[in-house]
Amino acid sequence: MIPITRVQFGIEEEELVLEVLRSGSIAQGPKVKQLEDEFAATFGLDHVIAVNNGTTALVGALEVLDLHPGDEVLTTPFTFVATLNAILEAGATATFADIRDEDFNLDPASVRERITTRTKVLAPVHLYGQMADMQPIEALAHDHGLRILEDAAQSHGATYHGRPAGSYGLGTFSLYATKNLTTGEGGLIVTDDAELADRLRVLRNQGMRARYEYEVAGHNYRLTDLQAAVGIPQLARYASIVQTRRRNAARLTEGLADAPGIVVPRELSGREHVWHQYTIRVTEEARVDRAEFVEQLTEHGIGSGAYYPRLVTDYDAYRRHPRVSVADTPVAARVAREVVSLPVHHHLADDELDAIISAVREISGASR
Ligand SMILES: *Cc1c(COP(=O)(O)O)cnc(C)c1O
Repeated sequence: MIPITRVQFGIEEEELVLEVLRSGSIAQGPKVKQLEDEFAATFGLDHVIAVNNGTTALVGALEVLDLHPGDEVLTTPFTFVATLNAILEAGATATFADIRDEDFNLDPASVRERITTRTKVLAPVHLYGQMADMQPIEALAHDHGLRILEDAAQSHGATYHGRPAGSYGLGTFSLYATKNLTTGEGGLIVTDDAELADRLRVLRNQGMRARYEYEVAGHNYRLTDLQAAVGIPQLARYASIVQTRRRNAARLTEGLADAPGIVVPRELSGREHVWHQYTIRVTEEARVDRAEFVEQLTEHGIGSGAYYPRLVTDYDAYRRHPRVSVADTPVAARVAREVVSLPVHHHLADDELDAIISAVREISGASR
């Protein structure tokens, strides 16, 4: 079986973890600081605050925006549930705009229509490793006096016309086991605002400025040095990780572009895609439907995933929630029925790429 993701480390991670273990200082300390500094330097970001996961990163980022009950955070329904859970945990109301099927991300035209007088934050999600169309989103935020929070959990190092993910005010990343960059569990908040960065550092450590001086009601959102030791060596090789993923994606596209009824993903002009996922759409014109397609992939020994099979607004738990404002998002609804992610990770061998291509070609009835 060729798995959809493969988590694998090198001798560098083993050595650094051992160093931290032997140091006896395993909680948040110098290695967390090093991870923050090197993440900032690698991607050209100003302030980086490491936290214990990508969901708390979102909650913390929303908390320092000082939202009030009834304030709305406008986001996409085609995302991992953490985006919505964080909005609710922060006490805000979630509202939704539709997406475009060319990049799976927020459609600025729909965002414009869904902004209300209560909207305070635009929260694009950079899904699968490609950034949302940020220029019009930034213009809308500017015109309406809104803040931007980028959920870049899947898009470490992605760029939009040269600007890195997370550089539009406040952004968050996940370091979960299967993300492009991982510490097992972990997250990062990034901002260009020194005051927000300072508040976030206090917030993650019980609201404590100096020992037993509590400034705000805070959290324990700390990452550990043990975890940071897993992440630091990957940062040094991240450029080559992305290069491999880009090469794998290019090979898949070359092999699959003419498969009938299948739409391959595209890197849009001006954007650098970091290929967290390689996600095709099995459209109505395809020979088999998505469920059958996935089943046949499995029979061929190819792992795959539907990220995500339903919109977050399609679950009763949220449809009934008083602070979730469900909206009609027809493009997102269709895309959720069509998506299938194929293996694109940086541990794939050439013959595995060939096997994925020939399986998809066979299932879709492409010519030999
Ligand atoms: C992974 C992910 C998160 C949450 O990150 P965790 O580290 O798992 O808490 C949030 N948003 C998106 C889009 C994600 O993919």
